[in-house]
Order: sequence, then C-alpha cells, then structure tokens
Amino acid sequence: MTQTNSNGQARPVAASLDHVIYQFGSQRALDDVSLHIPTGSVFGILGLNGAGKTTLLHHLLGLHQPRSGRIEVLGGNPIVNRESVMRQVGYLSEEDSLPAWMSVQDVLRFHQAIYPTWDRSYADELLDWFELDLRARLKTLSKGGRARVGLIAAIAHRPELLILDEPSSGLDPIARGEILEAIIRAVSIAGRTVIFSSHLLDEVQRVCDRVAVIHQGRVIEQFEMATLHESFQEWIVRPQSKHINSSVCPFDDALDWRGIDGEWSAVRRRAGQDDLSQNDWQVVDTRSITLERLFEALVGRSKVSTAPSETHLDTVVS
Ligand code: ATP
Repeated sequence: MTQTNSNGQARPVAASLDHVIYQFGSQRALDDVSLHIPTGSVFGILGLNGAGKTTLLHHLLGLHQPRSGRIEVLGGNPIVNRESVMRQVGYLSEEDSLPAWMSVQDVLRFHQAIYPTWDRSYADELLDWFELDLRARLKTLSKGGRARVGLIAAIAHRPELLILDEPSSGLDPIARGEILEAIIRAVSIAGRTVIFSSHLLDEVQRVCDRVAVIHQGRVIEQFEMATLHESFQEWIVRPQSKHINSSVCPFDDALDWRGIDGEWSAVRRRAGQDDLSQNDWQVVDTRSITLERLFEALVGRSKVSTAPSETHLDTVVS
C-alpha cells in the first residue's frame, strides 16, 4: 500500500486503519478512524486523556477486533498474521507491565528468545547508556529505570515498526529526554517507522514528523510538522469600539476564538483566507501557529461563534 505525500510522491505505508469503529459495550472508543502511517515516519497520535489513543494502538497490535473497518500492519493483518507481523513490531505500553519480580537480565533473555532478530550488542549498548545493572530486579528500579528496561525490550530486535504508548508518561525530564533520544536513534536507520502516542506537546514537537489529533474517538486533524506553519495561522485582532460583541468571531473560517486582555485570537487555516473586511476589527498581528495553540484550538472547550456583521455591530460587550 502507498500514500501520496505533500509533494505528490508515493510513499509506502507501514500501517493503516480504514474506517475503524470499536466500542467497549455501548461506549464508542473509535469512531470511523482512518489513518495511513508512512514508512520511515515518526508518527504522533496526539489526544487528551480518554481520546482513544491506546485503543487505536491496541488495534495495530491485534489486541482488539474492530467492530467494522480494516487494519493493515507491515503488509499483514495483525490478527490473522499475528506471528509474522508482531515479530517485526516493537511495543512499549503505557503501563508499567513488566513483571516486578524479574531481573533486568530475565526480561532481556525472555525477549531475546522471542525475537530471532534480537541484537545483543545493541541491547548491551543501551544497557550501558542507561546505566542499568543486569542483576537488578525491576521492583528495585525507579519508574524511569523500568521504562528504560521496557524500551530496550521493545527496540533491541530492531523492529521495522515501533509502537510507543505515552512512553514518557510520569517520568522525570532526564528519563524523558533519554527515551526520546533512543526513539530518534531507533529510527535513524532508513525505513523504520515509529508510532508514538502522547498528550505532551513538547515531545511530539521534538520527535514527530507527522501528527494526527484524536478527540473523542475521531481523528479530527492530521498535518506534517514541517508544514504546520503553512497550514495554519493565528490572527490577533482588537475590537475598534466597545459596542462590538467580541464573543462573536468576525472570521467565518476560524477553528477557535478566544480573548485575552482586550485582544482576540483566531486560529485559521491558511488556504483560502481572506483579510478581515469589517472595519470594526483591527488586525494587530498574524503569527506562526504553535502546536500548543493549534491543539487548544482543535480540542479546546471554546466554541467558535460566527455571525453576519449586522448581528454583532450593535451588541454591547458585557
Ligand atoms: P489516556 O491518555 O488516558 O491513556 P487514551 O487516549 O489512551 O487515554 P483510551 O484508553 O483508548 O484513551 O480510552 C478511550 C475511551 O475508551 C475512554 O472513554 C475510556 O474510558 C474507554 N475505555 C478504554 N478501555 C476501556 C475498557 N477496558 N472498558 C471500557 N471502556 C474503556
């Protein structure tokens, strides 16, 4: 399977979901999700708590049978072709799921026995880097230490596809930094793909080249980090008179509208933007969008209210 990138070039796809629906009882966790993850990318799944990130990743791992839709991972079906697909996949779960009674050595031996492509010297290199003692039992390690062991177990067989579910959740900044660095190194070999879920905007910005935003079980936006600024822009405007109803956004195409200290911010797609034509608003600035402002705009609580100019000309701000 291939996908076309922003330059119109065909790129092979490492994993895809097409119109996937999944429910826990009556609770819909994935609602018509379609995603195509290009081979060689670091693909971020960004969403608030409960958005559906783990459920989506579990589908790629063949842990859930979708109610409807189609899933392909490395050219196979993760349920039907489970063994052959999963041999080429590395996974680090959100939870601290390795058995606490095991030693670091036990964990690594266990994974070495499962994966024929296990690279012993790479595992040793990571152990040295993370300064882990092979004899230490997991229960004696810090949360960061256990996450580092989990990461070695996930990447030392040099998987074609690495799936990480909030890998640095709850870790200190040093452990987070090391884990992100290891992820970047793991994909430095051409053709390796990483799918990475997070609600931490700084780490997504640092490692991901493509991002999908998931909200309430739906993929609501996808973009390439390199072209984020070409796709969205923040407009800062100021009402020209106190008789303007500032709660009504003057841009018809705004994704989000919020006011701070007498100025108002609108997030807009850059394609097809028109200048502000109404005289009752002054454009103070147009800014490059930050990932934080865009995420806030996409999943934030603010409801954009737009209305024809005559409805807000005569209304006084309360
Ligand atoms: P978090 O960042 O908190 O881990 P998430 O984005 O990974 O959240 P999911 O864990 O995929 O979200 O959950 C998506 C939705 O499905 C949530 O509403 C959650 O409450 C629900 N859910 C998840 N697992 C179960 C389960 N085993 N039984 C019932 N509902 C579940």
